Amino acid sequence: MSAPGAADRAGVHGAHGGAPCADAADRLDLLLDGELDPVEVDEVRRHLAACAPCASEVDVREGIRALLRRDCAEAPPPALSSRIRGVLTTLVDEEGPTDG
Ligand SMILES: [Zn+2]
Repeated sequence: MSAPGAADRAGVHGAHGGAPCADAADRLDLLLDGELDPVEVDEVRRHLAACAPCASEVDVREGIRALLRRDCAEAPPPALSSRIRGVLTTLVDEEGPTDG
């Protein structure tokens, strides 16, 4: 019998059920758009701090946004661009060549 209500705040750390990640992934775009409530921002940021895969996911999405915005804004730093290029190359590589 653990203290009732303790599970309220659990779920970010050590919850590898997948639901927290799916939930966070769902909100990443909203987070980047600045359309989340401060409370939700806090939740997602906490998850990102505890979950490397999600943290790198938001990193990639942020980078892609930066590239998309490049037309009407400054170019992203070279380090970021090459990092994104690496990710995109990996994605393309996974698809495999459609040769033959
Ligand atoms: Zn996660």
